[in-house]
Amino acid sequence: MIDYDYLRPDNLEEVLGLLKEHGPKATLIAGGTDVMVKIRNTKKAPEVLVSIRGLKDLRYIEKKKDYHIGALTTHRMLEQSELIRTELSALHDGASRVGSVQVRNVATVGGNICNAAPSADTAGPLLVLDAIVFMEGPEGKRSVPITEFFTSTYKTVLKKDEVLTEIKIPGEMEHFGSAYWKHSRRKAMNLPILGIAVSLKLEGEIISDVRIALTVAAPTPVRAYKAEDFLKGKPLSDEALNEAGKIAASTECCSLRDSLRGEAWYRAEIIEVYVPRMAKLAAERRSK
Ligand SMILES: Cc1cc2nc3c(=O)[nH]c(=O)nc-3n(C[C@H](O)[C@H](O)[C@H](O)COP(=O)(O)OP(=O)(O)OC[C@H]3O[C@@H](n4cnc5c(N)ncnc54)[C@H](O)[C@@H]3O)c2cc1C
Repeated sequence: MIDYDYLRPDNLEEVLGLLKEHGPKATLIAGGTDVMVKIRNTKKAPEVLVSIRGLKDLRYIEKKKDYHIGALTTHRMLEQSELIRTELSALHDGASRVGSVQVRNVATVGGNICNAAPSADTAGPLLVLDAIVFMEGPEGKRSVPITEFFTSTYKTVLKKDEVLTEIKIPGEMEHFGSAYWKHSRRKAMNLPILGIAVSLKLEGEIISDVRIALTVAAPTPVRAYKAEDFLKGKPLSDEALNEAGKIAASTECCSLRDSLRGEAWYRAEIIEVYVPRMAKLAAERRSK
């Protein structure tokens, strides 16, 4: 039997106190859909699991000037939110494709990005939505742009004694749309071979702003900055989008990796095809 203590505090202060008390022996658990699978697969557990499921005030989706999403918001809440579907469509696409309904009912968006798998389905969408991640620890609160959050495979800037509390997305959404494509072998219960997210803003027919993110392509989720730079200021046309797809698939943007699920050459072909498709879908979905 795998043995560990399971502690379930009610508020953030207690969580931080327990993390301090147990130090490296403690691991946070939210929905547990990554943590428990790891424990079962490795047959090893941390001495103490500190559950944050009791922190109900970290479970929310709000729009004020910006969008605010609590770390404990489940994928199912994102999937069922009309606000997320219509205004942050890429995040809706990503959250709706995580595992099964049963998984989405418990798995959280905070857990998805803190686990930092290259295949995390909300990572690409959050990158193109320019999200900012808020954390709290013994030294107080801090925030980083999501572009700086992932440091390597399964690693983030989060310290062992910090809790991710909120994801903020800037609220300036005029003429803005976004989309995410999860490329996998089958539709249900499968991790992506590749994830492609695009957001763009149009002034008339001119692409005034665009963000492109690739997941599973590299050890961490990445932005394809060169392809973005190429598109900015250009009219939305098949020619420009196809060229941006080629740039995103090239080594100018990231060195694509081979893995069990797919080889680099195959990933390059998918990027080339789906960057233009997602850009067109984002444009169709833009707010008028
Ligand atoms: C059957 C199955 C199918 C799956 N399919 C997919 C899929 O299609 N796409 C996909 O992206 N993922 C998938 N997953 C993985 C998993 O469901 C997601 O990554 C999920 O979002 C993790 O959230 P959680 O709340 O369960 O995290 P947990 O397992 O509780 O935690 C994950 C990690 O994050 C840390 N953590 C959690 N919350 C916080 C916080 N607030 N602050 C600091 N650290 C924190 C934990 O310490 C742990 O290291 C699947 C898992 C299963 C079991």
